[in-house]
Amino acid sequence: MNKILKIKCPTCDEKFDYSRSEFRPFCCERCKLIDLGQWLDGAYTLESKENLSEEDLEIVIEEKLEQEENE
Ligand SMILES: [Zn+2]
Repeated sequence: MNKILKIKCPTCDEKFDYSRSEFRPFCCERCKLIDLGQWLDGAYTLESKENLSEEDLEIVIEEKLEQEENE
């Protein structure tokens, strides 16, 4: 008998089989990317967002990742 652990996806609130998702704790890649976009939106204001080039955006992401590794 297979034990199925169902959890709720933080992005879409859908219940899914935790052990079978490749994108834990999200149910799918789409929800993972949506969550990533949400913290990116919070990283800078709307005004400064317009001035950011794609290059700047990569730097923001790298800084965020380094912070997480250090914690
Ligand atoms: Zn989801």
